[in-house]
Amino acid sequence: MVATQLRARGVRDEKVLAAMGEVPREQFVPVERRPMAYDDAPLPIGEGQTISQPYIVAFMIEALALKGGEKALEIGAGSGYAAAVLGRICGDVYAVERIERLAAAAAKTLRETGVENVHVRFADGSGGWPDHAPYDAILVSAGAPSISEALQRQLAVGGRMVVPVGDHPRAQELVRVTRASENEFVRERIADVRFVPLIGEAGWARDAPDIAQTAGGGRTLFLKSRL
Ligand code: SAH
Repeated sequence: MVATQLRARGVRDEKVLAAMGEVPREQFVPVERRPMAYDDAPLPIGEGQTISQPYIVAFMIEALALKGGEKALEIGAGSGYAAAVLGRICGDVYAVERIERLAAAAAKTLRETGVENVHVRFADGSGGWPDHAPYDAILVSAGAPSISEALQRQLAVGGRMVVPVGDHPRAQELVRVTRASENEFVRERIADVRFVPLIGEAGWARDAPDIAQTAGGGRTLFLKSRL
């Protein structure tokens, strides 16, 4: 996976490549999906949600430009996989998940795989997790209608956030926001992506028609440009 899906496609950050090689992805997918755990694709994890394709996880985490030891926030913990990868690089990871069953399963898997620096919370994370802010890095793993002001404010100065944003619940542009100073936020579009929707206060309404009809989507990553 690391050689053919990540390195060959241009992921260069050795910390990210090492972390992706260390986290046992099969532990984070449902038992019946384990044979496909290292496929070049997202996989269903129940509740209409998906664990992202390995490449998109690596691409997003590489875009955070981590040095190691950071305090990070993930919105949309899902299976806990991306949080575990972040946990290999960062000092502490705070991960929020709005579906209780997934949050509980993620916490259990993380415990069972020996991860001790990832803290999972069952809540609507669209407004972040203010208690532990500021964060050096924020990874939003679900598609948001816009970049939440509250999330931006939880970035440390110099910190980065990677967030899929789009006016359709299931098709987004991946945007990197760097907090250049107290009141200056630099935005860069780095890819076209398809994520499941971010649902909540600063996300999509739970009963938006597109969401009700297409649960379970999230398939292909179309790269627009390299970093
Ligand atoms: N990073 C995950 C993939 C998650 S898919 C992994 O590695 O497995 C996106 C997740 O975001 C879903 O589990 C979904 O329930 C969650 N989500 C959507 N809206 C959310 C919100 N407002 N707060 C927290 N989690 C949310």
